[in-house]
Amino acid sequence: MIYQRSSQLFAEAEKVIPGGVNSPVRAFKAVGGTPIFVKSAKGAYLYDEDGNRLIDYINSWGPMVLGHAYAPVVDAVVAKAQLGTSFGMPTELETQIAALAVSMVPNIDKIRFVNSGTEACMSAIRLARGYTKRDKIIKFAGCYHGHSDSFLIQAGSGAITFGSPNSPGVTEGTAKDTLLARYNDLDNVETLIAANKNEIAAIIVEPVAGNMGCIPPQNGFLEGLRQLCSDNGILLIFDEVMTGFRLAKGGVQELYGIQADIVCFGKVIGGGLPVGAFAARSEIMNHLAPLGPVYQAGTLSGNPLAMAAGLAMLQALNNDAAIFQRLEEKTAYLAAGIDRVLKANNVVFTINRVGSMISVHFDADPVVDFQSAAKGDNATFKKFFHGLLQEGIYIAPSAYETWFITDALTYEDLDVTIQAIDKVSKTF
Ligand code: PLP
Repeated sequence: MIYQRSSQLFAEAEKVIPGGVNSPVRAFKAVGGTPIFVKSAKGAYLYDEDGNRLIDYINSWGPMVLGHAYAPVVDAVVAKAQLGTSFGMPTELETQIAALAVSMVPNIDKIRFVNSGTEACMSAIRLARGYTKRDKIIKFAGCYHGHSDSFLIQAGSGAITFGSPNSPGVTEGTAKDTLLARYNDLDNVETLIAANKNEIAAIIVEPVAGNMGCIPPQNGFLEGLRQLCSDNGILLIFDEVMTGFRLAKGGVQELYGIQADIVCFGKVIGGGLPVGAFAARSEIMNHLAPLGPVYQAGTLSGNPLAMAAGLAMLQALNNDAAIFQRLEEKTAYLAAGIDRVLKANNVVFTINRVGSMISVHFDADPVVDFQSAAKGDNATFKKFFHGLLQEGIYIAPSAYETWFITDALTYEDLDVTIQAIDKVSKTF
C-alpha cells in the first residue's frame, strides 16, 4: 500500500499543529512512520487520502460500536443541524437522552452531559470531593481517566506510549492528592486506605482496564473495591468511558453485578460526537450546581447535534438486545483465530479480552497490571503493526491500546484479518 498523500499531509500538518496531530496517540511516534490521513469511513472500513481501504480495529478509539457513518446517527445529526447547532439553553432532547441512559444503566438516577471523557472524570472527582469533604483519591497505575491534572500520575494510553505518565505541568500540590495503587491488587488499596484514614474521597477505576491494553479485573477485585469503599466512606467511581454501552447496555456494573457510586461515560454515549457524561444516585448528583455547591458547567454541554447522535446510538443499542451477543461472538471468533495462527508460528503472546475489547500482548506471562503490561515486546509489536497496515488492517499505533470491535465487521473481515496476522507473524 502507498501512503504518499498521507505523508505529504502530515508534513503540512506538522508546520501548524504540534506533532501534526490534535491528540498524541494519533501520531506514529511509538511505531515509526507517519500517520494515515482519513478521508471517509463507512461500516467497518476507513478510506484514506491515498485511496486505500483499511479494516478498522480502533473505531475512533471506541465510539463507533455499530460501525462508521451509522445511518440512524448520521440522519439524526443532519436533521438537527438544520434547526440550529447550539443554543446554550435547555432542549427536550437532553431530557430524552438522559432518561434513556438512566433507564439502561443500573444504580443511577441522574446524569449530567459534558463534552469529553476527560471532563466527565474530572467533574466526577470534584463531585466526590464535594460530597465527602475529603481531598485525596486513589487511582491505579496504567489506568487513564483523561488528561486533567489529577489523573496524569502513572497514566495509561498515550501518556505511557510517549513516556510521560507523570506529565510536567502537573503541580506537586495536585499530585500529592492522587494516591497510586496496583491494578488487581486489593491489599495495596487496603494499605493506602489505612495510611490515609478518613482522607480519601474516591477510588476511580477502569472496571475493565483498556488503556494498558485490555486487562480484565481478576475475580473479587471489583467486589473488594466496593467493600473497601463502603466500609470507609469512600465513593467508588467506575470510569466506563470505554466500557459503557460497549460491554453491556448497563456497562460493567451490569456485566459483573457491582454497584458503583459515580459512573463516567464518553465514547459510545456520543455516537461519535464529542460527548461525555457522569451519573450517580440523586443524593450525590444533587450536590451539583445549580442545586448544590459543587460547580460544573459547559457552553456546549448538551449540544443538540451531540445529543441527537448519542440518542440515536443509545436507542439502537437499547432496541436490539442481540448486539452485545453478536459483539461477543465476533470478538471470541477473532481471538480464537489469532490464538491459532500465532501459536502455529511459535510467537510468544498473551491475548486479553472482555466482550468486544481485546488486545494482543507480546509476552508469555499473564498481563494483569501496568507492570506486566509494560513487559511486552515492543519491537515485535512494531513489526506486527506495520505488517498489518500493509495488509490493509488498522490497529492502534501503540502496544498499550485495546482493539475495539464493531458490529459492522463481517466474519469475512475477521477471516481476512486472521490470515493477515498469520502472514505477518511468519516474518517476526
Ligand atoms: N477514561 C477512559 C477510560 C478513557 O479511555 C478515556 C479516553 O480514551 C478517557 C477517560 C478520556 O476521554 P476523552 O479522550 O474523551 O477526554
